[in-house]
Amino acid sequence: MLKGKVALVTGSTSGIGLGIAHAFAREGATVVLNGLGKPEEIEATRAQLAADTGASISFIGADLSRADAVAELIAKVETEHGRLDILVNNAGVQHVSPIEDFPPEKWDLIIALNLSAAFHAIRLAVPGMKARGWGRIINIASAHALVASPFKSAYVASKHGVLGLTKTVALELAEYGITANAICPGYVMTPLVQKQIPDTAKARGISEEAVIRDVLLASQATKRFVEVDELGALAVFLCSDGAKSLTGTALPVDGGWTAH
Ligand code: NAD
Repeated sequence: MLKGKVALVTGSTSGIGLGIAHAFAREGATVVLNGLGKPEEIEATRAQLAADTGASISFIGADLSRADAVAELIAKVETEHGRLDILVNNAGVQHVSPIEDFPPEKWDLIIALNLSAAFHAIRLAVPGMKARGWGRIINIASAHALVASPFKSAYVASKHGVLGLTKTVALELAEYGITANAICPGYVMTPLVQKQIPDTAKARGISEEAVIRDVLLASQATKRFVEVDELGALAVFLCSDGAKSLTGTALPVDGGWTAH
């Protein structure tokens, strides 16, 4: 379904981004991976994905917390592949801490990566999408784009911001064949979630088991973690013709969390 399309998935060396990259590659898209990690592990991931799917998979490294690196990434994709049709802004980090102890440098990093990088990538990808009359912008926001949790001030602020950005660009681009949507996952067991369990336990004064049961899955009515394949399937649908009028939305994939 995506043959001939070039997709960039930021932060796709692990977790949700890698799952979405898999889903696009299975549909025949040319996929550009990005993210941090050890070069040999990233190359193994790239080669495995190419072997599993037969799709053309490349990797372009960039620290997306820097605006100049985002610009270089978009320019390289367009130079190396001649186009950028599908942009998934997925790279993100978390930090868990009470507001009075929240390190300002963590705030700056989270806003730069989770929010500003999406702005820069979108502003630079849009001219090519407009020229070709087709584009898909998918921002991986979070249930935390819709509701808050304590001790996650920067993350919740960044994800609410991403949703505002999504709605704004959807309106601006609606007549150019370009859609922009925010996928809002509940908890998915990825390295990002694994890392926050000890800090959440500390911030709340409870055990790590209690964090999983009473914090992470407490509001998720399904009582299970969302799986990356579910997010990949939705991202593929958003790129289909059937989704061409679906724009400016927040799509919760959260096991009922935000239905409360
Ligand atoms: P993850 O830690 O598995 O993946 C994060 C990716 O971002 C990795 O590829 C990492 O290398 C990359 N990255 C980190 N810093 C970077 C930087 N400075 N420049 C470029 N890439 C960088 O986490 P994940 O859970 O897959 O998260 C992916 C996205 O999904 C994030 O935006 C996150 O906020 C969002 N999300 C996750 C969950 C969840 O429960 N896991 C829920 C809702 C939303």
